[in-house]
Amino acid sequence: MPIQETKHIWRDGEMIPWAEATTHILTHGLHYGTAVFEGMRAYDCAQKGVCVFRNREHIERLFYSARVYKIDIDYSVEDLMQVCRDVVRENGLSSAYIRPVAYLGYGEMGPASQEVKSEIAIAAFPWGAYLGEEGMKNGIDVAVSSWRRLAPGTMPAGIKAAGNYLSSRLVSMEAKDRGFAEGIGLAHDGTISEGAGENLFVVHKDRILTPPAASSILSGITRDTVITLAEDLGLKVVEQALPREILYAADEVFLTGTAAEVTPVRSVDKLMVGSGERPITSKIQKAFFGLFNGETEDKWGWLDPVG
Ligand code: PMP
Repeated sequence: MPIQETKHIWRDGEMIPWAEATTHILTHGLHYGTAVFEGMRAYDCAQKGVCVFRNREHIERLFYSARVYKIDIDYSVEDLMQVCRDVVRENGLSSAYIRPVAYLGYGEMGPASQEVKSEIAIAAFPWGAYLGEEGMKNGIDVAVSSWRRLAPGTMPAGIKAAGNYLSSRLVSMEAKDRGFAEGIGLAHDGTISEGAGENLFVVHKDRILTPPAASSILSGITRDTVITLAEDLGLKVVEQALPREILYAADEVFLTGTAAEVTPVRSVDKLMVGSGERPITSKIQKAFFGLFNGETEDKWGWLDPVG
């Protein structure tokens, strides 16, 4: 997906021109993957104007990720939430993908360096439907990957760190090379984990199921949004370990993520999902996009106006 340039990027306390947001070739994060990041969206909302979606939860997750890898962030959650609003507004964006990144900078070599200074930046730029408008409407074709996701006790799958995305790259590249839109990763034990950059939900015999945190997933904020919206609609979501073959018995499958939003899955490993009818996925999509077009009341304070 080509990046659409905007005017300014915030870095270490100031807005700088887009082209000047460069870094040294010996940056620690580039060599050892010592970078943590977020992917957030801003929407043009019917009632509140341009809003960052679940700003606080994303920035809190950034701090959690940074804490685990001891990447200092010299700002508060509130400071960075304000920067997210500013970077969208100052770039004149009516909707945006927002990318905060904190990483170990230049100055030392060796993965365990504790002295190397951290750097932080937040960019915002336009980004449409990650898995395509057509896929959003009609569903995408996915395949289970031959690559397993990170096993417990290897690297924390629940942290949004740059290095984790080497796994995502392998899963997603393999799928695309084989002609699928996205790859699904299995956990170390062969149960379903998640998409390369999305959480996965299965509708099976009127139950909505999704793998738990222990299945090597990133606990997505969209996943939490969908669970909350489903329960608000009177639908129960059960978090449980899921065998691969439930994908072939499912009535509906969908993927969730900040980039992917709520994307239906049409087929898995070339087997059509259910009858092709998607009543539950449609309800969830309607409730999700309703938050922005005003049809779903934001009871949870998830929309944060950029001002
Ligand atoms: N899993 C992975 C591996 C991801 O990269 C993402 C996208 N951040 C998700 C799940 C979904 O997370 P969220 O809804 O917070 O964007």
